[in-house]
Amino acid sequence: MANYRITCVEDYEPLVGAEVVRRIRDKAAKLKGLRIANFNSTYYGGGVAEIISSLTLLMNSLGLRAEWRVIQGSPDFFSITKKMHNALQGGGIDLSKIKKEIFEQVIYENSVRNFLDHDFIIVHDPQPLPLIEHYEKKCPWLWRCHLDLSRPDAETWKYLRRWIDNYDAVILSCKEFAQEMKPPQRVMMPAINPFTIKNRQLSDREINERLAHYEIPVDLPLVVQISRFDPWKDPKGVVEAFKLARKQIDARLVLLGNFATDDPEGEEIFHSLCACRDDRILILTSGDDTALVNALQTRAAVVLQKSLREGFGLTVAEAMWKGTPVIGGNVGGIRYQIDDGVNGFLVSSIEETAGRMVELINDKELRHGMGRKAREMVRKNFLLTRYLEQYLDLFADL
Ligand code: UDP
Repeated sequence: MANYRITCVEDYEPLVGAEVVRRIRDKAAKLKGLRIANFNSTYYGGGVAEIISSLTLLMNSLGLRAEWRVIQGSPDFFSITKKMHNALQGGGIDLSKIKKEIFEQVIYENSVRNFLDHDFIIVHDPQPLPLIEHYEKKCPWLWRCHLDLSRPDAETWKYLRRWIDNYDAVILSCKEFAQEMKPPQRVMMPAINPFTIKNRQLSDREINERLAHYEIPVDLPLVVQISRFDPWKDPKGVVEAFKLARKQIDARLVLLGNFATDDPEGEEIFHSLCACRDDRILILTSGDDTALVNALQTRAAVVLQKSLREGFGLTVAEAMWKGTPVIGGNVGGIRYQIDDGVNGFLVSSIEETAGRMVELINDKELRHGMGRKAREMVRKNFLLTRYLEQYLDLFADL
């Protein structure tokens, strides 16, 4: 049989040091055999799936028994939950009686199919939230909300609180997202797995091969944003900022995106963006090729993450890990990753984004200096071992 293996904490030792690895091993030893079930709503296509995938494996490598279950739903269910997602991030919504009925019925059906006999249940984001009402509660239930909750729609929040209040703890990505609710709230920022194909170091040859495969020219500096096609990622604002910057510099914009199974808005946004395509503006949907994501984040002169709301923004840490400076929206978790003017730039408008783009494209020294600091920021704060340890502490506390 082939020699299959998964990443274990020892692999992190050169990055985080022996002391951290030993501490994690000790904490995990006390939790050996702990049965954990994670619920979310998509296998791939967003940060949540990305994190659960790596984190459950790392937990299993330490002797915990961490499972990952994805709820199933019809297209109308996901259209409703995406509206809820948008409302929690500050958009408007009309939650009719029938929409609530569909939402609650689909979750009930999922509960019928999922048998739970665990020590911890972790429910990610609002989609599977009502699961909790269908089980006799025998262990702590955690709600892990990855969204930017800085300005939730009041009516949606009130509706969801009937379930949220039954959880034993709620985990948020930033302290600014704290809301009125019964459970205690903890802040834990997501983190990246540096050993995946998306994040490990690629050779120049591998990078060139990927870029050539998608016919991405490398004659000009690349400005790159990689995101689901989602209004909160402001792809239109990215194109406008790039057009403004192009009055002063020559570069090429690559907007790479993918679609998540729980996000029906993507297709429409992608098609509306296609009208902007020209020789300098590439709009690509090959985002499920994680080596391409890596190649672009590594080769880019500048990465953008011009979000208008952002729970955390894994793409920011991913690019910074590759030593690429990021211009990020001054919102949510991005503000904790980018130290403005030190390892990247925070921006609040199209004009500001264009100005920073020009500054970085024109100054190689600045790019390299910021890139070095960006990588160090991620090494110290945003590798998966830190997040794992916070979970272990939380399990021990509860
Ligand atoms: N992603 C990808 N291809 C794409 C767009 C995004 O692989 O075309 C990945 C990206 O690399 C990151 C995740 O999807 O790992 C997005 O996470 P983030 O927290 O940035 O945003 P979310 O989609 O969860 O809002």
